[in-house]
Amino acid sequence: MKVEKVKVSLNTVDDIPYAPFARPGLVTVNSGFRTQRPVCDKEKCNGCHLCYLYCPDGCILKDGKSIKFDLDFCKGCGICKKICNKGAISFEDEK
Ligand code: SF4
Ligand code: SF4
Repeated sequence: MKVEKVKVSLNTVDDIPYAPFARPGLVTVNSGFRTQRPVCDKEKCNGCHLCYLYCPDGCILKDGKSIKFDLDFCKGCGICKKICNKGAISFEDEK
């Protein structure tokens, strides 16, 4: 498989792309084991994008001045909730 090199200049969080840039390969939806899902309270979120930077699975996407979750790949680890100092992220049970 040919790996494409991408040149970027990163100075602020705004320079980081909307979503991780790895192209989908053999990866398929893998969040079936999650028992709870994250929810963002847009009223509390100040758009700092810290959660986006810390999510180990790259499944937090920038959404204007806030964020949204790629729930196909979020494993429900809770790191985003822990890192958010605005208390904007909570978890709800999967139905
Ligand atoms: S860390 Fe909290 S306040 Fe910052 S973007 Fe994420 S949800 Fe919003
Ligand atoms: S729960 Fe974990 S995997 Fe899901 S969005 Fe938060 S940090 Fe990422």
